[in-house]
Amino acid sequence: MRVTGLLEEIATIGRDRITGGYRRFAFTADDVALGEWFAARVRALGADVTVDRCGNQWAWWGDPDRAAARGRPGVVTGSHLDSVPDGGPMDGPLGVAAALVAVEALRDNGILDEAIAARGRPLGLVRFVDEEGARFGLACSGSRLLSGISAPSSVLALRDAEGVSYAEAARAGGLNPDHMGRDDETLRRVGCFVELHVEQGRALALPELNVPVGVASAIRPHGRFRLDLAGRADHAGTTLLADRDDPMLALATVISVARAAASGHGALATVGKVEVAPNAVNAIPSGVRAWVDVRADTEQQVRAVLVDVEAAIGQAAVQESWTAATVFPADLAAEVAGAVGAALGSGPVPVLPTGAGHDAGVLAQAGVASSMLFVRNPTGVSHSPAEYAEPDDCEMGAQALAAVLTRLLAVE
Ligand SMILES: [Zn+2]
Repeated sequence: MRVTGLLEEIATIGRDRITGGYRRFAFTADDVALGEWFAARVRALGADVTVDRCGNQWAWWGDPDRAAARGRPGVVTGSHLDSVPDGGPMDGPLGVAAALVAVEALRDNGILDEAIAARGRPLGLVRFVDEEGARFGLACSGSRLLSGISAPSSVLALRDAEGVSYAEAARAGGLNPDHMGRDDETLRRVGCFVELHVEQGRALALPELNVPVGVASAIRPHGRFRLDLAGRADHAGTTLLADRDDPMLALATVISVARAAASGHGALATVGKVEVAPNAVNAIPSGVRAWVDVRADTEQQVRAVLVDVEAAIGQAAVQESWTAATVFPADLAAEVAGAVGAALGSGPVPVLPTGAGHDAGVLAQAGVASSMLFVRNPTGVSHSPAEYAEPDDCEMGAQALAAVLTRLLAVE
């Protein structure tokens, strides 16, 4: 099996004919088709697929319950198959396809049998449901429910654009909403989790690194802040400049200061949404509402950007959401980076942070030893039909993943 061949097998499922992007949403017919493909591929590798109470699909080589009872929980890999609206072909499926190729390699070279027979260490493959949250607005709901990071009551009441609730969609998908929530029986089987993912950025492609595979150190902290900029509505044709109280000038300051502050503090800041009242061509606005999204390696850097913006306009921002950093275990990341490097014939590969959320991050928050491999993305574009990784890099990613799993299965 090759990674690109596997991606080709599902290339038409959920693809929009006009945009060429994917619209693979949770608990839809396309989602079911992807799940059936996954199950068939797993069966061809000699394992059965089970669905946990929260809708995630699992396959095991070896007996995970027996292993967990003896204190030797399994090594697990996998990712997701759903997409954002008009998503690309790699975000999610690359991790599932690479996992299938890696499992096949470990089966063929005898490492899987040895791990199971000699050490009692099973290997698991998971396909998480609804990672992108495109339908109900909550990312990683499958892993959040499974791990108890999100309460079932808050997830099951979410509704899609048609008014269908998460509970109704899950029930139509064969799940019992009354049984959804933290699943210790399933979690107990997972000793560690490694997710391979296309890089959503181009750090690995930059000349200073230029490596096909890297490892995640952390998911950056992330804040969303709102600014309400007040002004006074007036006539665009008669009000002297000196007499105006124009909130658009404050908005301009916010945008330019956020950019400069982000640059100065090593952060990313985006003013991506504004509301202008009354939003008329010939009126000085009475008010502007603007949202600033700030991400950086540390909370201090995010706060420093915000302090600069607030000082420039003499006004405090309202914090609408705050997502703390997820730090992947550093010893595991170092071990993974070493195994990847050995597979690529180099020293340890770079370990770097990302600004995007993942199921591996949710599991890490829940206390599962988790790690991520990133495959180089030449343009950095993701969540777009233009998302791409070189075929050779995809295959190297699968080889690197196989090397990582080999090392983790060998742990006594
Ligand atoms: Zn993803």
